[in-house]
Amino acid sequence: MKPTFYITTPIYYVNDVPHIGHAYTTIACDALARYHRMKGQQVFFLTGTDEHGEKVQKSALQQGLAPRELADRVVTRFQGLTPALEITNDDFIRTTEPRHYASVQDLFRKSLGNGDIYLGEYEGWYCTPCESYWTDLQLVEGKCPECRRDVEKRKEPSFFFRLSKYRKPLLEYYERNPRFIRPESRRNEVIAFVEGGLNDLSVSRTSLSWGIPVPGHPGHVIYVWYDALTNYITGLGYPGGGETFDAFWPADLHMVGKDILRFHAVFWPAFLMSAGIAPPLGVFAHGWWTVEGQKMSKSLGNVVDPYEMVATYGADAFRYFLLREVPFGLDGDFSKKALVHRINSDLANDFGNLLNRALGMLGKYFGGAVPAPSPPGEEDLSLIALAGEVRRSVDAAMEEVEFHRALAAIWDLVKAANRYVDASAPWALARDASKRERLGTVLYNILEAARICVLLSSPFVPAAAQAMWEALGCQGEVAKAILSDAATWGGLRTGAELPRSAVAFPRIEA
Ligand SMILES: [Zn+2]
Repeated sequence: MKPTFYITTPIYYVNDVPHIGHAYTTIACDALARYHRMKGQQVFFLTGTDEHGEKVQKSALQQGLAPRELADRVVTRFQGLTPALEITNDDFIRTTEPRHYASVQDLFRKSLGNGDIYLGEYEGWYCTPCESYWTDLQLVEGKCPECRRDVEKRKEPSFFFRLSKYRKPLLEYYERNPRFIRPESRRNEVIAFVEGGLNDLSVSRTSLSWGIPVPGHPGHVIYVWYDALTNYITGLGYPGGGETFDAFWPADLHMVGKDILRFHAVFWPAFLMSAGIAPPLGVFAHGWWTVEGQKMSKSLGNVVDPYEMVATYGADAFRYFLLREVPFGLDGDFSKKALVHRINSDLANDFGNLLNRALGMLGKYFGGAVPAPSPPGEEDLSLIALAGEVRRSVDAAMEEVEFHRALAAIWDLVKAANRYVDASAPWALARDASKRERLGTVLYNILEAARICVLLSSPFVPAAAQAMWEALGCQGEVAKAILSDAATWGGLRTGAELPRSAVAFPRIEA
């Protein structure tokens, strides 16, 4: 296993406030960051905001603000997601920070120096919201192919990045690294796009001022995507990063929405190759959410506010729902009914009840003190074996970034433990004094199965997991437990005195 793990969210654009899409990407990255820490890896988890470009300049102008003032206002909404959603990012980068200017200009200068960036003139159809130029061929019915809005003809002197030169190196990189772009269907799309040929990319603008100046050419600012992508190395201290950079680069995973995959899987590795820096190891493109069956939009008034979700349902439940409901990589539909159903069924009934029943019986039959188990019988061994299998299934699913599968595996163990309670019927054993030892073993096994479920679920539902961890008499932070050690059967301390109940997942009344 690699000793380090570097994961990033895209940096979020400050012309809008956070919605479910931002929360989704950040939560997914957080679950992975937490999981890899529990595998014993040193993790660096970066998120931040993209604060330059025409859209921000325009939004600021409309609101009578300087672009920087707008950025300063909106950034707090994104920074606030960290505590609200229980996010464990190690740094938060803003592209308006001096460290980022130094990084972008250094990278740009490298490609300018070797001729991969050259001065030319650009003419094309420009879509302002997408900050993209399009050719005649790319337009769809005369409109922007990405957002279907009107485009305008524009011409300006521009620096170009020699992307055409990287067609072959990129295809070779995809070939050598079959897991670079995931999921597989997206990988095929990108390969087809690159095989079709690449045009040199305009990487500077003279038409706007809100951006990082091209070194030595003050009339030009660097194209916002070139600026934004570079955040991933700025975060590690590039260009002077030293040990941190060497330890964590290349990034293990850039998590992105499917709409920005091309920037990450084509442009970004090419920029890096040109500068003599290794490309990232992985880019994963996830899907989008509709809301109650409809496309989410401001005009429909159905934008899901993550802060409101946390206030109503709690961060754990919101996190669980987003990662459990839809296979990661596909599109999904967000509905309050489905969310409440998940909370009541999976969290409160299955998981919460398992712990509560166990604690209740432990209090009633053993005064709350965890009994030492006898050697396991046949009926115990299958539960113990399943705990080991689930641990391996979760690991395999997390390697594939399949959160829904990881959670389904954990819930297999939750459900098996509930069935074990019913089949072992501790209440019947308690009526027979000669079965006292067996009763103790059964209760130990229920609690131990619950402990392993808590451990494995903690990257997804961190606050509830910590509360349950403490209720089980386990010490320290569950988030700091190392799975190879802590997930082994038999880790529950005997003799510890546990509370009679713990409500980790309250039911939501309809
Ligand atoms: Zn557009």
